[in-house]
Amino acid sequence: MSEKVLVTGGAGYIGSHACKVLKAAGYVPVTYDSLVTGWRGAVKFGPFEQGDLMDRGRLDEVFAAHQPVAVMHFAALSQVGEAMSEPGKYWRGNVCASLNLIEATLAAGVRDFVFSSTCATYGDHDGVVLDEDTPQLPLNAYGASKRAIEDMLVDFGNSDGLNSVIFRYFNVAGADPDTEVGEFHQPETHLVPLILDAIDGGRDALTIYGTDYPTEDGTCIRDYVHVMDLVDAHVQGLNWLRAGNGPTKGGTERFCLGTGKGFSVREVVAAAGSVTNRAVPMKDGERRAGDAVKLVSGSAKAGRVLGWSPDRSTMPQMIRDAWRWHQNGGYEQ
Ligand code: UDP
Repeated sequence: MSEKVLVTGGAGYIGSHACKVLKAAGYVPVTYDSLVTGWRGAVKFGPFEQGDLMDRGRLDEVFAAHQPVAVMHFAALSQVGEAMSEPGKYWRGNVCASLNLIEATLAAGVRDFVFSSTCATYGDHDGVVLDEDTPQLPLNAYGASKRAIEDMLVDFGNSDGLNSVIFRYFNVAGADPDTEVGEFHQPETHLVPLILDAIDGGRDALTIYGTDYPTEDGTCIRDYVHVMDLVDAHVQGLNWLRAGNGPTKGGTERFCLGTGKGFSVREVVAAAGSVTNRAVPMKDGERRAGDAVKLVSGSAKAGRVLGWSPDRSTMPQMIRDAWRWHQNGGYEQ
């Protein structure tokens, strides 16, 4: 019988894509999601268990029912703007919830854990390319909450033998090329879907958050990764842990998932205009609080250790797949 993997946040953007590739890799992904921000319609590749991470009883019940061999933890609050105005929501919803999940994981006897972290844990490093050893100095409660969970995994590795892989994502974009799943947030806050929405008339214009940053064109620079490449890394990381390559007596390996190439907001807008062959209505706006100037990965570790190769992460490919999803995909609300 196929082994099961508990996927928290499996009804969300990245989690749903992870379920697709887990299934293709021979696992049964069991989605655990509160549906506060996820979509029931995104759960297509394995069983669904509705529940909140704060509900320890429900977590224990789901572990007992499915006996997963590992956990992939995607469920999180992830909006920088909201984290600036409501930090308590992030400390409770990300940190306390993850503590509950880790304790439930250990109580169920599961020791392999894959965690979705972020380059927002780094903060501003004055244009330096970021790798696994760069100090983490988050600028907002979102990054701080993810850093705290990383620290927790280290501690539980030492105390209880939890083996974990931590992936620090750079900016995730694109969608499943088959349009079975895709990016669907409400409200949407991410750059690529907002650009596509502006192109399509779903909103008046894209607002560029800050045009006076110390970059060539004055806008922020990010390193964009195709969501399918990103979730491939998770399956590779999981298999790597399960094959006993990881820190088998408890410990953590961290990997940055980026391409090493930065794009400014204006460059992403221009690429979207050219891929879709449509004009992008846009206007200049104020800086968004909590945004770092430049976040670019300088790491080759995931390639070296896991054999990860982000081949689909070109800007035209990400926009093409996101555009196809934008035009053909969606979930019932
Ligand atoms: N951005 C923008 N306008 C928008 C949304 C985002 O100019 O309507 C910029 C944002 O300031 C950042 C980049 O696009 O520099 C990527 O933002 P996103 O929210 O997609 O991801 P984040 O970097 O916050 O994870």
